[in-house]
Amino acid sequence: MTDEPTADLHLHTTFSDGTETPERVLEMARQAGVSAVAITDHDTVDGMARSSAAAAACGIELIPGIEMSSCSRHGIEVHVLGFLFDATQPTLTRHVAEQQARRIARIHETVKRLQRVGVTIQAEEVLQLAGEGTVGRPHVARVLLKHGYVSSVSEAFSRYIGTNNPGFVPGSTLSPAHIIGVIRAAGGIPVLAHPIYLRCDPLIEELAQEGLLGLEVYHACHPPETVRHYEQMADRLKLLKTGGSDFHGDVKEGQPVGSVKLPYALVEALKQWKTTSVS
Ligand code: AMP
Ligand code: ZN
Ligand code: FE
Ligand code: FE
Repeated sequence: MTDEPTADLHLHTTFSDGTETPERVLEMARQAGVSAVAITDHDTVDGMARSSAAAAACGIELIPGIEMSSCSRHGIEVHVLGFLFDATQPTLTRHVAEQQARRIARIHETVKRLQRVGVTIQAEEVLQLAGEGTVGRPHVARVLLKHGYVSSVSEAFSRYIGTNNPGFVPGSTLSPAHIIGVIRAAGGIPVLAHPIYLRCDPLIEELAQEGLLGLEVYHACHPPETVRHYEQMADRLKLLKTGGSDFHGDVKEGQPVGSVKLPYALVEALKQWKTTSVS
């Protein structure tokens, strides 16, 4: 019996805030029986060469991917996934370089604010933990955990670095429309990530008017009724459907590689859009 090919189009590695290397994530995908993956690290494409080599070694197809941060005009943090783009296109490479600098500056400001409330961690340790990857709040959380300020990553977010906490510093101020433009300039397909986190359907309709092409209907945090809701919404707004596990390794529980398996037909639909569009 041959299994139908499947895909997991939302995975993180050590090139952003995942705890596993691209090689390890690809090996996990192979073990989970996934035929195609997208590594969607936050605001970076630096891991692509390693992911691509690891995917080839595992006999898995790698779909170029990224997850970009933005902020809606209502102040909601909006994550937009990009697929099948040219990672060398200048608008995109300039954007990721700017975002990496922004993220480093944010960590310095976060640490300064934490020090004001008696939390004496150092920015250097957070940056060192992020290593070659884009730095983010999960790295701060892991340093807080290591030094005993919290007993879990989620406690770090609820007490220190989540919205309105003493160490919170706003992230990207770019609009989702801007991000959508960056992905499309690189010939990619912008897809709204985990819409459940937004709880704002009018925003999705607005983004569809602004060039959004897909909706992440399937996600490890979407229960069946949510999936049905977003399936209908994607059909109504004529958006492509994607999905994935949003695997981060051991920093987030319950979302192993391949826990969301898409029928490969959805990957074909993405490719089909590429071949028929004149973006
Ligand atoms: P940043 O991009 O630096 O603002 O960090 C945001 C990332 O932190 C998200 O993409 C999630 O991976 C992670 N995150 C956000 N909230 C939580 C939470 N409550 N617990 C664990 N991880 C979280
Ligand atoms: Zn993340
Ligand atoms: Fe996200
Ligand atoms: Fe993600």
